[in-house]
Amino acid sequence: MIFVVISCVFGWTGIDRAALGVLGAGQRLAQELAGRHTALIVGLPSDDCVAEVARFVDVVQVLNDPLLANHHSETTLTALTKACRQLNPAVILLGNDCYCQEMALRMTHRLKGSATGDALSLKAEGEAVLVTRSVYGGKAQVTFALHRKPAFIWVRARAYNPTRPQDVSAEIVPMQLKIEEDQRVVLIDRQTEPQAAARLEDARVIVSGGRGLGGPEPFTHLQSLAAAMGAHVAASRAACDAGWVPAGWQVGQTGKKVAPDLYLAIATSGASQHIMGIADAKDRSTNNCLISNVA
Ligand SMILES: Cc1cc2nc3c(=O)[nH]c(=O)nc-3n(C[C@H](O)[C@H](O)[C@H](O)COP(=O)(O)OP(=O)(O)OC[C@H]3O[C@@H](n4cnc5c(N)ncnc54)[C@H](O)[C@@H]3O)c2cc1C
Repeated sequence: MIFVVISCVFGWTGIDRAALGVLGAGQRLAQELAGRHTALIVGLPSDDCVAEVARFVDVVQVLNDPLLANHHSETTLTALTKACRQLNPAVILLGNDCYCQEMALRMTHRLKGSATGDALSLKAEGEAVLVTRSVYGGKAQVTFALHRKPAFIWVRARAYNPTRPQDVSAEIVPMQLKIEEDQRVVLIDRQTEPQAAARLEDARVIVSGGRGLGGPEPFTHLQSLAAAMGAHVAASRAACDAGWVPAGWQVGQTGKKVAPDLYLAIATSGASQHIMGIADAKDRSTNNCLISNVA
């Protein structure tokens, strides 16, 4: 029996740093399981995106349908579940964004598999997959063994480096699946954040603000600072809940998990729930990760 490891890539995000990390994790795990690494591309990917993905896997399955052009949680969930039923994978890897987190658990339920998220590392042990993630606000790590298949795992952004591309590109196979629009959830409006040129999860430098800034206005100064540094802006939950900045800026346990090289937290107390979101900031031991209360 060949173990199939699927790495999911979405046409609407394309092949960004997080997707490359997922592909890197999938490639290594498939090698350990002596299995096959399949990329499942969902949405309307560009030809460049498909060609790029083909350099990292054994086969590319493309689920291409206008109904999947943009993320619609119910339609995408049903399409992905159908695709996974057809491909019968042992492991399905996803990114660590809120779309994937939402879908992974529901797919796990539908396919009667197992799941865990926020994976920092993956390892095969026999037919089980060992998934290590951080707990207690990043103060400890725990390893789960997933035995039930398929195992759904969402991988923390930037926890994995991309692997070297292969010399020979993989075969590209269009999936023939009937995609139906799920009418139970109607998308009324879609608003894109203007700063979302690159995702917070992929940022190398982040400047973050907390409640101590006292209102929305100081965040404009933070944005100028971030622009000068080529950084992204983020915030604590207190600042987001106060409505000073968009909810999408929130870093932490219930926000985004980031792994930058440098994280500047300004007027932020460093509550464990906030720190959990930056547990993987690089080089913490060399004090590159700075928690500061200087407003
Ligand atoms: C289940 C759960 C999940 C949570 N998830 C998250 C999460 O994902 N992300 C998150 O951030 N929080 C989360 N929280 C909330 C978290 O516990 C804290 O309440 C929150 O992080 C506090 O935000 P803060 O540091 O901005 O505010 P505060 O704790 O109020 O800290 C403000 C800091 O600013 C300093 N300050 C004040 N004035 C100035 C000044 N003029 N100059 C400089 N410094 C100043 C203060 O000394 C203080 O240290 C969660 C809580 C729970 C219970």
